[in-house]
Amino acid sequence: MLADFEHASILVLGSGTSVGVPMVGCHCKACVSDDPRDKRLRPSVLLKLDDKRILIDTSPDFRYQALRSGIERLDAILYTHAHADHILGLDDVRPFNFMQKGNIPFFASAGAFETIERTFRYVFDSSPSESSRPRLTPHIFDSEPISVAGACIQPVRAKHGRGIVYGFRIGDCAYLTDHSEIPAESEALLQGLDVLFLDALRHNPHPTHSTVEESLKTVERLRPRRAFFTHISHDLVHATTQARLPAHVQMAYDGLEIFIGRSDASAV
Ligand SMILES: [Zn+2]
Ligand SMILES: [Zn+2]
Ligand SMILES: [Zn+2]
Repeated sequence: MLADFEHASILVLGSGTSVGVPMVGCHCKACVSDDPRDKRLRPSVLLKLDDKRILIDTSPDFRYQALRSGIERLDAILYTHAHADHILGLDDVRPFNFMQKGNIPFFASAGAFETIERTFRYVFDSSPSESSRPRLTPHIFDSEPISVAGACIQPVRAKHGRGIVYGFRIGDCAYLTDHSEIPAESEALLQGLDVLFLDALRHNPHPTHSTVEESLKTVERLRPRRAFFTHISHDLVHATTQARLPAHVQMAYDGLEIFIGRSDASAV
């Protein structure tokens, strides 16, 4: 699936949970840490496939993430689900509409699309407007693979508490966030991976998120070559949490770029 691309990588734009780290007003160890890896913007990643750029989720920090990472084009947006920390930066895709002079395709499940449409009514209002609005072309997916900017992407359904979330498999790489349970039929889609991103909010159980310990068990079952934990809360300090993880499991951090199909990973 990725054989058609010479360069394939996944860039972590935000590794934090919904309020980000530091959390406003908090003085805990992670929130006052000087380690840049403890500064976590809201959750999002960018897939780079040669000159194509595919954004997974538009976090409330999207504008700053795009500036910080020098994102200069967007070929498509994929949505995992429609919680606020994953969609509220949608308005900030307008500069890409201006630069690319066209609509941006976006892909969401029917349920997520319904919430995005309701939340951003002005975006989908077809009446004339004096102000600019994001220009988007919606595509609804279910469980079938989708063709996105020349890549074949497999949606992977998981439970997010009582809700539904989708991860995405692109070649030998998969990104899953905000999951509390990965059903067996979805685990079947996550075999033979080079790179697997998983939700690992904190140590204490949470009704809608996986913990570090639960995600370690997922890694043991699925046996990816490398695993990366994301959607991290301020309960976890990077250095001390990382020190207790096996060598092939890494805490993600903002700016981490993983080259898919190669063994190296470097920060940008
Ligand atoms: Zn989230
Ligand atoms: Zn804190
Ligand atoms: Zn969520």
